[in-house]
Amino acid sequence: MTSERMMIGQNVRGILKELPEGVMLVVAAKTRSPEEVLAAIEAGAGIIGENYVQEADIKHQAVGDRAKWHFIGHLQKNKVQKAVRIFDLIETVDSLRIASEIDRHCAKDSRIMPVLIEVNSGREAQKSGVLPEETEALVREVARLDNIRVMGLMTMGPDLSNAAELRPYFRETKVLFEQLKVLDLLRVEMKYLSMGMTASYRVAIEEGASIVRIGSKIFGKRVGG
Ligand SMILES: *Cc1c(COP(=O)(O)O)cnc(C)c1O
Repeated sequence: MTSERMMIGQNVRGILKELPEGVMLVVAAKTRSPEEVLAAIEAGAGIIGENYVQEADIKHQAVGDRAKWHFIGHLQKNKVQKAVRIFDLIETVDSLRIASEIDRHCAKDSRIMPVLIEVNSGREAQKSGVLPEETEALVREVARLDNIRVMGLMTMGPDLSNAAELRPYFRETKVLFEQLKVLDLLRVEMKYLSMGMTASYRVAIEEGASIVRIGSKIFGKRVGG
């Protein structure tokens, strides 16, 4: 076993030990090799997060069902067909257009795709995600699709150098999550709140995250990608 694999294993075990009960780790694996992903899985990681369908396809073929696969990138319409065959959950649905495409391909495969709705909690023009004030309307529309289940919300928040500054964005997303939960909409199960990365996962957990997405703290700093 190489020292790099040992380091990945140690990092995963450390994070898993630290996470409170009910908080799940998604290993954010963009730019990482199948071998690195396997080292994380062997240390106990159960969910791999990927940003690019093409890249995920290669790793999924090497790693397969030894983990669950979450899509955490921006999904393009022409990649949906492949995505629904790889992923167990799509965290980044932010339009009825992309939801309908997921629904259409899942109907062909007779399956139901669990999804999270991505919220643009920073209200940034260039960022993906639905605005907080438009989230309920989108959840209601997506819930009408037969082959999709809305299972919660995901947010990135703005790119701030100080993780503590993300707290208000996580807090607002949690409030939205709870508001949607009490609506008890038909075919909507507000179960997962995905927020927080390497620099911000502790703040996110304090603000109610049930999924954290961590890459650099496991694999080391990314070079490119
Ligand atoms: C890369 C990525 C992460 C993890 O970021 P790190 O800072 O490396 O932990 C989390 N979420 C998304 C959507 C990402 O693209």
